Amino acid sequence: MAAGPSDTQVGIIGGGPAGASMAAYLAKAGLKCVVFESELFPRPHVGESLVPSSTRVFRDLGFLETMERERFPHKFGAGWTAANSQISYDHDWDGLGETDGHAHADGPNIRFEERQQPGVDQNYTYHVDRGKFDQLLLQHASGLGADVHEGVRVSGVEFNGRAKVNYQMAGKEMCTTCDLVVDASGRRTLLGNQLKLRIRDDVFDQFAIHTWFDDYDRKAWIKKDQHADFIFIHFLPLTNSWIWQIPITDTITSIGVVTQRRNFAKTKASREEFFWETVRSRPEVYAKLKEAKQVRPFSEEGDYSYAMKQVAGDRWLMVGDAGRFVDPIFSTGVSIALNSSRFAHTDVLQAFATGNFSQGAFDNYTSTIRRGTTNWYEFIKVYYRLNVLFTYFITDTRYRLDVLKLLQGDVYEAEEPAVLTKMRAMVAEVENTPKHPWHKLLNDLTANAFKPAF
Ligand SMILES: Cc1cc2nc3c(=O)[nH]c(=O)nc-3n(C[C@H](O)[C@H](O)[C@H](O)COP(=O)(O)OP(=O)(O)OC[C@H]3O[C@@H](n4cnc5c(N)ncnc54)[C@H](O)[C@@H]3O)c2cc1C
Repeated sequence: MAAGPSDTQVGIIGGGPAGASMAAYLAKAGLKCVVFESELFPRPHVGESLVPSSTRVFRDLGFLETMERERFPHKFGAGWTAANSQISYDHDWDGLGETDGHAHADGPNIRFEERQQPGVDQNYTYHVDRGKFDQLLLQHASGLGADVHEGVRVSGVEFNGRAKVNYQMAGKEMCTTCDLVVDASGRRTLLGNQLKLRIRDDVFDQFAIHTWFDDYDRKAWIKKDQHADFIFIHFLPLTNSWIWQIPITDTITSIGVVTQRRNFAKTKASREEFFWETVRSRPEVYAKLKEAKQVRPFSEEGDYSYAMKQVAGDRWLMVGDAGRFVDPIFSTGVSIALNSSRFAHTDVLQAFATGNFSQGAFDNYTSTIRRGTTNWYEFIKVYYRLNVLFTYFITDTRYRLDVLKLLQGDVYEAEEPAVLTKMRAMVAEVENTPKHPWHKLLNDLTANAFKPAF
């Protein structure tokens, strides 16, 4: 087998946000690293709306200037529209609800500027065309000194002494040896599959179909000027189903339908027909979309939630989706990918300083990223179990900022967020009280249905 790019300190598999930010952090600190990316960039990718905790990474890496120069739409907040005005959410329970005098004037729309975030001095984040964003971030890593190779698919890694990354380049089998391998291969989970660490999440068996539209009237949902360029989530009157509406440019909008896979599996409709049939359950959205022009083919994503038994081992670690994927309802994936590199790179630098590349050398990273993704997962689980709870907490001034903190992506602190503990207790009470007015609103996801095996 021929040797490819000469032996290096860190081999990074995948050049998406996780791999590119990891390469940028390490190259900036003076480490030699090689990125192996199977695609030729720019390539389209799902995951176009960021949360503000991404800003810390952009600042660390000197990438904020690029975000501004390239004029990615500023995302000042998020809005939710209800599926069914027939469902009454006006019960006042435990002091929660719009009728108790604590209701926030903006209702379920949130603006990031409502809560100051340590280390983040702008009141917005971004929506991104992932083709363009991922390419710019990877180029930025290259500019900082990372050795980037596109069109190179890694087939596996051998761990005998130093790690050996095997791949095809120019039609030839090649390899590069390195002290440490970072798996940033996204939902393809290269090491997760190779080492059989992946645990399927049967609860969130969701399915998404998405595309871009030109001239969709997204202003139809805006009650105030400052809601322009929010992400909007339109709930559908189907279990666990919703539509995302994400501004990509002044006129182009990304629209995605998310629903349970079984809804798609049981229909004989094509995916295009299924998309339109599902959107039709929100006639106002349907009417506006029919006036717009679809400018991309439909793409679909399925079977996308999972965990890993381990996210680090001797001479390897996983960042971003390669380590775990939680449901995208709160636009978390890219932020988790970027922040996983932010946390992991300090352990990596320490490993090079001490020469210790064993699993234990990555404990700080492992515990921090697990805390964050577990908090997200718990929040999402409670949300899917009893949607109304989210609406009540976000509209109640006493809890609003605590929920906003989660939505800003600040989920990595040692303590579980108190609001999450309270939400979970409320779900348990509703589950155990058949006469509770919200009991009939419980979805079929059970709060403890999925326990990650770690
Ligand atoms: C339906 C849906 C909606 C979503 N919406 C959002 C959203 O609004 N906001 C958000 O933040 N996130 C969202 N996400 C999540 C987001 O897409 C991911 O979390 C994010 O892309 C993770 O970045 P990553 O770098 O870990 O992986 P990726 O972006 O997938 O990058 C992985 C890279 O690795 C490369 N690769 C894979 N295998 C190999 C190999 N063997 N050799 C070499 N290269 C390889 C791939 O080509 C790819 O470029 C959504 C996800 C889904 C499924």
